[in-house]
Amino acid sequence: MDDRLFRNAMGKFATGVTVVATEVDGQVHGMTANAFMSVSLNPKLVVVSIAEKATMLEKVKQSKSFSVNILAASQQDFSMIFAGQIKEHREVQFDRLGGVPVIPGSIAQVTCEVTSTHTEGDHTLFIGKVTDIHLEDKEPLVYFSGKYRKLAEG
Ligand code: FAD
Repeated sequence: MDDRLFRNAMGKFATGVTVVATEVDGQVHGMTANAFMSVSLNPKLVVVSIAEKATMLEKVKQSKSFSVNILAASQQDFSMIFAGQIKEHREVQFDRLGGVPVIPGSIAQVTCEVTSTHTEGDHTLFIGKVTDIHLEDKEPLVYFSGKYRKLAEG
């Protein structure tokens, strides 16, 4: 099957946009990701899927912890920075939640400890046990068919 057809079909699943962040040797690394979902309520588990080519893969393997930051509609720039869609380096200030770097102003900051990993094809699934959550009441950034969107009023 054609890669483009597969990508186009998966892009029809409208999602929010997150930035996954972690820290190794005092250096924070962020990566835009929409392959994120809730896995279990008891215990509280989530999953993120990270490409084998991504720098983030080794970072999370080393740190064994990460945050998932669900972006607000006003935070498209963060998505573009951490997806490499803005080429020049931008200085980003991170907050901390339980010692894990998080993106200020996100609608949800969810910090996790890695409990298991599953490599499937060219991605690795990181199962994270949720250690802390911070919420803000804002509208989300949406991604659909390869484009950023906002929720319609009403
Ligand atoms: P790099 O390419 O090295 O870093 C990404 C960018 O973040 C670089 O421009 C870097 O300068 C910047 N950056 C990193 N840390 C900092 C910091 N501390 N301060 C300032 N800038 C920093 N890929 C997946 O594997 N899984 C997904 O679920 C996924 N979903 C995506 C959803 C969307 C909407 C988009 C647009 C992309 C998605 N991607 C996903 C692709 C992924 O975001 C890119 O391939 C990304 O560039 C891979 O990052 P990397 O870890 O290889 O790091």
